[in-house]
Amino acid sequence: MDINSLKKSIRNIPDFPKPGIHFKDVTSAYQDAKIFSFISDEISTYYMNKGITKVVGIESRGFILGSIIAYKLNAGFIPIRKPGKLPSEVYSQSYELEYGFDTLEIHQDALYPNDIVLIHDDLLATGGTIGAAIDLVKKFGTTKIYANFFVELDFLKGVQKIEGSVEVMSLVHF
Ligand code: AMP
Repeated sequence: MDINSLKKSIRNIPDFPKPGIHFKDVTSAYQDAKIFSFISDEISTYYMNKGITKVVGIESRGFILGSIIAYKLNAGFIPIRKPGKLPSEVYSQSYELEYGFDTLEIHQDALYPNDIVLIHDDLLATGGTIGAAIDLVKKFGTTKIYANFFVELDFLKGVQKIEGSVEVMSLVHF
Protein backbone atom coordinates (compact mmCIF):
# COMPACT_ATOMS: atom_id res chain seq x y z
CA MET A 1 0.00 0.00 0.00
CA ASP A 2 1.31 3.48 -0.82
CA ILE A 3 1.13 6.37 1.61
CA ASN A 4 -1.22 8.39 -0.64
CA SER A 5 -3.94 5.72 -0.62
CA LEU A 6 -3.42 5.41 3.12
CA LYS A 7 -3.95 9.17 3.52
CA LYS A 8 -7.09 9.01 1.37
CA SER A 9 -8.55 6.41 3.73
CA ILE A 10 -8.57 8.97 6.57
CA ARG A 11 -11.88 10.82 6.37
CA ASN A 12 -11.93 14.59 6.86
CA ILE A 13 -14.88 15.96 8.88
CA PRO A 14 -15.20 19.75 8.65
CA ASP A 15 -16.28 21.70 11.75
CA PHE A 16 -16.12 18.75 14.19
CA PRO A 17 -16.27 18.84 17.19
CA LYS A 18 -16.62 22.61 16.77
CA PRO A 19 -16.53 25.20 13.97
CA GLY A 20 -13.09 25.71 12.42
CA ILE A 21 -11.64 22.28 13.41
CA HIS A 22 -11.00 19.90 10.51
CA PHE A 23 -11.23 16.54 12.19
CA LYS A 24 -9.18 13.64 10.79
CA ASP A 25 -11.32 10.58 11.37
CA VAL A 26 -9.03 7.55 11.72
CA THR A 27 -11.98 5.14 12.08
CA SER A 28 -12.47 5.23 8.29
CA ALA A 29 -8.91 3.87 7.89
CA TYR A 30 -9.13 1.34 10.74
CA GLN A 31 -12.39 -0.19 9.42
CA ASP A 32 -10.62 -1.67 6.36
CA ALA A 33 -8.91 -4.97 7.29
CA LYS A 34 -5.99 -4.56 4.84
CA ILE A 35 -5.34 -0.96 5.81
CA PHE A 36 -5.63 -1.69 9.54
CA SER A 37 -3.09 -4.50 9.34
CA PHE A 38 -0.77 -2.38 7.13
CA ILE A 39 -0.75 0.49 9.67
CA SER A 40 -0.20 -1.92 12.58
CA ASP A 41 2.65 -3.70 10.79
CA GLU A 42 4.40 -0.53 9.59
CA ILE A 43 4.49 1.05 13.04
CA SER A 44 5.41 -2.18 14.88
CA THR A 45 8.20 -3.03 12.42
CA TYR A 46 9.73 0.44 12.84
CA TYR A 47 10.07 -0.10 16.62
CA MET A 48 10.96 -3.80 16.48
CA ASN A 49 14.64 -3.65 17.50
CA LYS A 50 14.55 -0.76 19.94
CA GLY A 51 14.14 -2.82 23.10
CA ILE A 52 10.76 -1.32 23.99
CA THR A 53 9.38 -2.85 27.18
CA LYS A 54 6.14 -0.80 27.59
CA VAL A 55 3.73 0.82 25.16
CA VAL A 56 1.74 3.66 26.72
CA GLY A 57 -1.56 4.42 24.93
CA ILE A 58 -3.44 7.69 25.41
CA GLU A 59 -7.23 7.47 25.95
CA SER A 60 -9.10 6.71 23.92
CA ARG A 61 -8.02 6.39 20.30
CA GLY A 62 -4.45 5.69 21.41
CA PHE A 63 -5.67 2.40 22.92
CA ILE A 64 -6.62 0.95 19.52
CA LEU A 65 -3.23 0.70 17.83
CA GLY A 66 -1.31 1.02 21.11
CA SER A 67 -2.38 -2.40 22.31
CA ILE A 68 -1.64 -4.02 18.93
CA ILE A 69 1.84 -2.47 18.84
CA ALA A 70 2.46 -3.68 22.41
CA TYR A 71 1.43 -7.21 21.44
CA LYS A 72 3.65 -7.21 18.34
CA LEU A 73 6.66 -5.87 20.30
CA ASN A 74 6.15 -8.29 23.18
CA ALA A 75 5.80 -5.27 25.44
CA GLY A 76 3.35 -4.48 28.23
CA PHE A 77 0.48 -2.04 27.62
CA ILE A 78 -0.12 0.95 29.92
CA PRO A 79 -3.18 3.21 29.64
CA ILE A 80 -3.03 6.97 30.21
CA ARG A 81 -6.58 8.03 31.02
CA LYS A 82 -8.81 11.01 31.68
CA PRO A 83 -9.30 11.93 35.37
CA GLY A 84 -11.11 9.55 37.71
CA LYS A 85 -11.00 6.49 35.43
CA LEU A 86 -7.96 4.61 36.80
CA PRO A 87 -8.83 2.73 40.00
CA SER A 88 -5.48 2.64 41.85
CA GLU A 89 -3.07 5.42 42.95
CA VAL A 90 -2.27 7.81 40.09
CA TYR A 91 0.05 10.58 39.00
CA SER A 92 -1.83 13.50 37.37
CA GLN A 93 -0.68 16.06 34.85
CA SER A 94 -2.68 19.08 33.69
CA TYR A 95 -2.12 20.75 30.34
CA GLU A 96 -3.46 23.74 28.47
CA LEU A 97 -6.13 23.41 25.80
CA GLU A 98 -7.29 26.12 23.41
CA TYR A 99 -9.74 27.21 26.14
CA GLY A 100 -8.98 26.03 29.67
CA PHE A 101 -7.15 22.98 30.99
CA ASP A 102 -7.40 19.21 30.88
CA THR A 103 -5.75 16.47 32.94
CA LEU A 104 -4.31 13.02 32.22
CA GLU A 105 -3.49 10.24 34.70
CA ILE A 106 -1.29 7.14 34.93
CA HIS A 107 -1.07 4.45 37.61
CA GLN A 108 1.85 5.03 39.98
CA ASP A 109 3.09 1.44 39.59
CA ALA A 110 2.83 1.37 35.78
CA LEU A 111 6.50 1.89 34.86
CA TYR A 112 10.05 1.41 36.21
CA PRO A 113 13.22 3.47 35.63
CA ASN A 114 14.68 0.75 33.37
CA ASP A 115 11.64 0.63 31.04
CA ILE A 116 12.07 1.71 27.43
CA VAL A 117 8.76 3.40 26.66
CA LEU A 118 6.85 4.00 23.44
CA ILE A 119 3.94 6.44 23.84
CA HIS A 120 1.31 6.08 21.11
CA ASP A 121 -1.62 8.31 20.16
CA ASP A 122 -3.67 8.38 16.97
CA LEU A 123 -2.87 11.97 16.09
CA LEU A 124 -0.47 14.80 16.92
CA ALA A 125 -2.07 18.25 16.66
CA THR A 126 -0.77 21.06 18.91
CA GLY A 127 1.26 18.67 21.10
CA GLY A 128 -0.49 19.51 24.40
CA THR A 129 -1.71 15.95 24.97
CA ILE A 130 1.58 14.21 24.20
CA GLY A 131 3.46 16.84 26.25
CA ALA A 132 1.41 15.92 29.33
CA ALA A 133 1.87 12.19 28.60
CA ILE A 134 5.66 12.65 28.38
CA ASP A 135 5.66 14.55 31.70
CA LEU A 136 3.77 11.63 33.29
CA VAL A 137 6.20 9.03 31.93
CA LYS A 138 9.19 11.10 33.08
CA LYS A 139 7.94 10.88 36.69
CA PHE A 140 9.17 7.26 36.65
CA GLY A 141 12.75 8.20 35.77
CA THR A 142 12.70 6.28 32.48
CA THR A 143 15.62 7.41 30.33
CA LYS A 144 14.48 6.47 26.82
CA ILE A 145 11.06 7.60 25.55
CA TYR A 146 9.72 7.30 22.00
CA ALA A 147 6.53 8.96 20.73
CA ASN A 148 4.51 7.60 17.82
CA PHE A 149 1.44 8.84 15.96
CA PHE A 150 -0.55 7.41 13.11
CA VAL A 151 -1.22 10.98 11.87
CA GLU A 152 0.68 14.24 12.36
CA LEU A 153 -0.75 17.65 11.44
CA ASP A 154 2.51 19.34 10.42
CA PHE A 155 1.07 22.86 10.15
CA LEU A 156 0.32 22.93 13.92
CA LYS A 157 4.02 22.28 14.68
CA GLY A 158 3.22 20.13 17.74
CA VAL A 159 6.45 18.22 17.20
CA GLN A 160 8.48 21.30 18.14
CA LYS A 161 7.17 21.00 21.71
CA ILE A 162 8.52 17.49 22.19
CA GLU A 163 11.32 16.61 19.75
CA GLY A 164 14.04 17.67 22.19
CA SER A 165 12.98 15.18 24.85
CA VAL A 166 11.71 12.20 22.83
CA GLU A 167 12.23 10.56 19.44
CA VAL A 168 9.14 11.06 17.26
CA MET A 169 7.77 9.05 14.30
CA SER A 170 4.45 9.64 12.54
CA LEU A 171 3.27 7.31 9.79
CA VAL A 172 1.38 9.94 7.76
CA HIS A 173 1.62 13.72 7.63
CA PHE A 174 -0.91 16.34 6.54
P1 AMP B 1 -3.16 18.00 20.69
O1 AMP B 1 -3.10 17.92 22.18
O2 AMP B 1 -3.57 19.36 20.20
O3 AMP B 1 -1.89 17.51 20.02
O4 AMP B 1 -4.35 17.06 20.23
C1 AMP B 1 -4.17 15.69 20.17
C2 AMP B 1 -5.38 14.91 20.62
O5 AMP B 1 -6.61 15.50 20.19
C3 AMP B 1 -5.32 13.54 20.02
O6 AMP B 1 -5.67 12.61 21.04
C4 AMP B 1 -6.33 13.56 18.88
O7 AMP B 1 -7.12 12.39 18.89
C5 AMP B 1 -7.20 14.79 19.11
N1 AMP B 1 -7.24 15.72 17.96
C6 AMP B 1 -6.81 17.01 17.96
N2 AMP B 1 -7.00 17.61 16.79
C7 AMP B 1 -7.56 16.68 15.98
C8 AMP B 1 -7.98 16.68 14.59
N3 AMP B 1 -7.87 17.76 13.81
N4 AMP B 1 -8.49 15.53 14.10
C9 AMP B 1 -8.59 14.42 14.89
N5 AMP B 1 -8.22 14.37 16.18
C10 AMP B 1 -7.71 15.48 16.73
